[in-house]
Amino acid sequence: MYTDASIERLARDIVASKKTVALSGAGMSVESGIPTFRGKGGLWEKYNPEEYGHITTLRYHPERAWIMLKDMQLAILPAKPNAGHYALAELEALGLLSSIITQNVDGLHHVAGSKNVIEFHGNLQTTSCMDCGFQQPSSAVPLDTIPPRCPKCNGPVKPDAVFFGEAIPLDALTRSHQEAQSCELMLVIGTEAVVYPAASMPEIARSAGAKVVEINPSRTPLTDFICTYSIHGPAGEVLAKVVGKVKELRKG
Ligand code: NAD
Ligand code: ZN
Repeated sequence: MYTDASIERLARDIVASKKTVALSGAGMSVESGIPTFRGKGGLWEKYNPEEYGHITTLRYHPERAWIMLKDMQLAILPAKPNAGHYALAELEALGLLSSIITQNVDGLHHVAGSKNVIEFHGNLQTTSCMDCGFQQPSSAVPLDTIPPRCPKCNGPVKPDAVFFGEAIPLDALTRSHQEAQSCELMLVIGTEAVVYPAASMPEIARSAGAKVVEINPSRTPLTDFICTYSIHGPAGEVLAKVVGKVKELRKG
């Protein structure tokens, strides 16, 4: 696993860094009870994402797309932030974290109080009509008969997340590039970093001279080639300890 020395090393790096950015993935929310997609028993074992999660399926076979979306909504909507989300919000409030680039669609960074969150893949908290644009909280969309329809025009509805076949919002892409290019330290938390273009952010940061530190219980494709060092532990537990140490260092 990891040592107290590695927690202290990261805390010192955060305090010394002029600009720190976090990139978070599905592992960030595992301690909130939301499983990753790729892992054993994950959603991708049950549903082929490129089919069920494709924008064309949603448009023309919404009943099919919503089988998977219902499963996702049931996992995500009741979830609460964990110690890791709160630790990142605290770092931002201390002036030690510039932004979070997240691949997650659960909205939990916002709920925990983080302000500067770049949602690369949108989020599932709201749902919009594909015909008239009417937007409502996803919690208001009934899931007992799927696919749900727009209460205004009966059109097909879509959670405000980025689907396969859709572009990453340009604003998210531009801001993430800027953040990755200009940071001194990037924390890569709970992601395999295989889904592009979000996955290129650690490379961009590294090429621009930043330290890249990974927090993940497992090794990833970044571990050997991109990371300055890795802390192999669960995000919530590790980040809570790191922020505790940061506060200690700032006091002393
Ligand atoms: P991934 O499923 O490819 O990788 C998840 C990573 O999390 C793995 O490397 C795993 O070792 C790590 N992990 C597991 N438990 C952890 C913990 N407690 N702490 C830290 N790390 C832990 O996920 P991905 O790379 O993020 O890509 C999958 C895509 O699906 C992304 O777009 C992602 O946002 C999306 N997704 C989102 C959610 C969510 O919003 N909560 C959940 C699942 C998948
Ligand atoms: Zn409508």
